[in-house]
Amino acid sequence: NGSRPVRTRIAPSPTGFPHVGTAYIALFNLAFAKANGGEFILRIEDTDQTRSTEQSEQMILDALRWVGLDWSEGPDIGGPHAPYRQSERSDIYKEHANKLLDNNHAFRCFCTSEELDAMRAEQMANGETPRYDGRCAHLAPGKTEQLVNEGKPNVIRMRVPTEGVCQVHDMLRGTVEIPWAQVDMQVLLKTDGMPTYHLANVVDDHLMDISHVMRGEEWLNSAPKHQLLYEYFGWEMPTLCHMPLLRNPDKSKLSKRKNPTSITYYRDAGVLPEALLNYLGRMGYSTPDEAEKFTLDEMIASFDIQRVSLGGPIFDIEKLNWLNSEW
Ligand code: GLU
Repeated sequence: NGSRPVRTRIAPSPTGFPHVGTAYIALFNLAFAKANGGEFILRIEDTDQTRSTEQSEQMILDALRWVGLDWSEGPDIGGPHAPYRQSERSDIYKEHANKLLDNNHAFRCFCTSEELDAMRAEQMANGETPRYDGRCAHLAPGKTEQLVNEGKPNVIRMRVPTEGVCQVHDMLRGTVEIPWAQVDMQVLLKTDGMPTYHLANVVDDHLMDISHVMRGEEWLNSAPKHQLLYEYFGWEMPTLCHMPLLRNPDKSKLSKRKNPTSITYYRDAGVLPEALLNYLGRMGYSTPDEAEKFTLDEMIASFDIQRVSLGGPIFDIEKLNWLNSEW
């Protein structure tokens, strides 16, 4: 895959304030892309219509611009793969879900939420990890057709092996093994015809020619599903890189209860964008000369993914304030 042009992306969901974690992930995507002569693009993942707002999207765009992380294709500027807002692409996802149905890589599931709750409760009572038990996976095609014709609500789920181990290759972690038994038969298309994150994300990364998926480590467990979808579609898998999550000084996952997490907060508190960016860079990275202070251009000039450290980066507002006062 060495000949593939480097294209990275961030894909924020516009469901709240612009989070420092978004800028942190964006920074590494941008540095990696630019260091390899590639492009960094922005895609808005707003398929969750109940939680996504235009106001949040605008705040995320403004915050990324303020901090100095510019993208070369995106919802506001277009590009060869426009549109970059998933809510404007639902036909594309539906078409792909139908392809999986046709190839028998997916099935329609008619279980109601009451049935799913009962299934989950029983599995938990037995000490098992809750997982869809596959009861709709083997319905006779005639039965499925009949239920669809009767107008029974249904979702589309992907088929997943029940045995064996999935090997995920990660740029920072090497080969990670995840047993298939831990991977759920993920819903791909919801009853309202909207895709879930997993389907939309994979389809878009492919259609937008993303070569490297760099994102937070909370998505590592989703990688087997994504890898399987690439296989089902017969597409080339992007290289994966799961970045360590930002943490509070007590090592818990960065949360607004313990630290302000909104970029807007730091902007309004008088933190300089260069200082915030430098601080976020230092969270996971050190330059070869171990400089205390470096700019985005300096980070790009010597960027080497192998210098990213996996040790949980601590977001400490005291240190940020100190760096800001020194800037
Ligand atoms: N929409 C996801 C998020 O908000 C994107 C995750 C990914 O980069 O694949 O974190």
